[in-house]
Amino acid sequence: MKIVCLDLEGVLVPEIWIEFAERTGIAELRRTTRDEPNYDTLMQYRLGILAQHGLGLPDIQKVIAEMGPMPGAREFLDALREDYQLVILSDTFYEFAHPLMRQLGWPTLFCHRLEADANGILVNYHLRMPDQKREAVKRFKELNFTVVAAGDSYNDTAMLGEAHGGILFHPPENVIREFPQYPVVRDYAALRAEIDAAFARAADLNPTR
Ligand SMILES: [Mg+2]
Repeated sequence: MKIVCLDLEGVLVPEIWIEFAERTGIAELRRTTRDEPNYDTLMQYRLGILAQHGLGLPDIQKVIAEMGPMPGAREFLDALREDYQLVILSDTFYEFAHPLMRQLGWPTLFCHRLEADANGILVNYHLRMPDQKREAVKRFKELNFTVVAAGDSYNDTAMLGEAHGGILFHPPENVIREFPQYPVVRDYAALRAEIDAAFARAADLNPTR
């Protein structure tokens, strides 16, 4: 019994905050954890900027809907789901991902949640739990699934390490250098081939799977 865990941003859809900053021309929203390592400070700053610009959830979702998933992402997922169970593990928020998940055919998504006031202005965020990507993989293993995971960045490496097989999809050079143990692929055909190969290797190691 096999389950594939995929990261969302940078794998199936663009980086939502970066793309949102570009589409709205709000440069302050380009700030990332690289500029502000304290995640809570960064999120409060982002929510403040959105409120300052009077952008409520419906406005934000409209911009996100126009981003669309990456070319070929929907077809890749549809074919993958014929052969494997699939769960997307992401550090984004349901409210942001919603317009993109519609375009991806509503795959299962585990992520976090935003809180809006009556006018749709975002007032807070709620992380479901810390280190959720790795925790989810751990639990799937306890449920007797063989797990192959793929992601593009630092926030995926704990998940890749926990899975029976981990794959880097289109990662930045520094991630490739720091995590040479993971195969690197750069398009969906190669990702699919590597997922199949990773499950085959896991089955060789443990023929009962
Ligand atoms: Mg990512």
